[in-house]
Amino acid sequence: MPSVTRSIALPTFDAADPFAHRLAVDGQRLARRSLRTLQLNLGKMCNIACAHCHVEAGPKRKEIMTWDTMRRVLDWIDTQGGPAEIEVVDMTGGSPEMNPHFRDLVVELKRRGLHLLDRCNPTIIEEPGYEDLPQFLAEHGVEIVASLPCYLEDNVDAQRGNGVFEKSIAALRKLNAVGYGVERHVEEARHGGTEARRHGGGGQAGREQGNAASPLQPPVLPGDRSSLDAGGAGDRSTEPGTCGATDPRATPGAELGELRLDLVYNPVGFGLPPAQAALERDYKKHLRETYGITFNTLWTITNMPIKRFGHALRRDGRFDAYMGKLIDAHNADNVEAVMCRDLVSVGWRGTVYDCDFNQMLQMPLVPASFGPCDDEHTVESEGRKLWDYSADELHGRAIRTGAHCFGCTAGAGSSCTGALLT
Ligand code: SF4
Ligand code: SF4
Repeated sequence: MPSVTRSIALPTFDAADPFAHRLAVDGQRLARRSLRTLQLNLGKMCNIACAHCHVEAGPKRKEIMTWDTMRRVLDWIDTQGGPAEIEVVDMTGGSPEMNPHFRDLVVELKRRGLHLLDRCNPTIIEEPGYEDLPQFLAEHGVEIVASLPCYLEDNVDAQRGNGVFEKSIAALRKLNAVGYGVERHVEEARHGGTEARRHGGGGQAGREQGNAASPLQPPVLPGDRSSLDAGGAGDRSTEPGTCGATDPRATPGAELGELRLDLVYNPVGFGLPPAQAALERDYKKHLRETYGITFNTLWTITNMPIKRFGHALRRDGRFDAYMGKLIDAHNADNVEAVMCRDLVSVGWRGTVYDCDFNQMLQMPLVPASFGPCDDEHTVESEGRKLWDYSADELHGRAIRTGAHCFGCTAGAGSSCTGALLT
């Protein structure tokens, strides 16, 4: 019998986009579905400058979404938001509250019955001029997504700057004091009160009602240090004194409440996030017992190897190891749930991206001539704006990917609302 040689056609490897290659090998396709979440970057100004920040935000940044751009976004929501079935507007930055039009935008979006998320660096509440921010957000029913990358002071300060933990704790207490993340709202929900959905709560019905050192050298991180070599899906640190130790005796605190306060964890070092549910129990136990703070949900987010964190990885000669770790931990099951399928990210000048990470890499929707090496201000000025698209044009569109996308699919997965597999 003659031997038969069969050739199998494998997708051509694209070194610039190994993620697309991996999808092709696995027979997967990444395309947009109905748009549910509009994520607005209100600017790159922030009162602090964190080591891992993928926006490279900080006190010296000047980019701010103008009221004219906000007006055009509101007009787009009025004409396309219904067909697109938008439920959520996710406001991010920088510190979105530092945009001088932030409160006017909140009022206008609530008038349209949309569920609002404020990605809040809680220390902003401790800055002069922001004392009434908790009350304002509570009165308008804005869900708060507050960053707190650990429940231990040293780790938070190593990543975000000296004094950030102390200010964050003070701010979280103030949010609890106006009703965010507290248990009495759990009782209201159990007895027929409105239970805010984790990712949405307005929808069409609501709309009709008109609802009102080296940053990579943290001080004590035995779990994170070893995790760079360990690889795999979701590190499981068991060292005491690290965020990521799992304590089966930990008790959950406040659950779903009317005024939602969600916290965001991201690794202080090089590891993937630990299991979200177990870490949430640890956070709740520690924050309640030590500081009297309660919150709804913990979202674990993987550090993206781009911008400030990417630069630090390269500077420390760890970039390839970190990328290898993400690629080794790729889980094809996460591809179905990545956030870009039903979210668009809008830059401070209105340019549209598949996600916040693509925005920071200057990779607008395909087809686009811009790429990671292009000047961000040129891309923001010249890229197609939200109002240049209809909702129909967005639906079904292929998503622009790159090597960084492995940050969304590694381990338990990662998105703006935490792990994808919980
Ligand atoms: S990570 Fe958040 S709080 Fe830190 S600098 Fe960036 S935008 Fe500001
Ligand atoms: S990085 Fe953006 S485009 Fe890539 S998978 Fe994640 S959300 Fe989608």
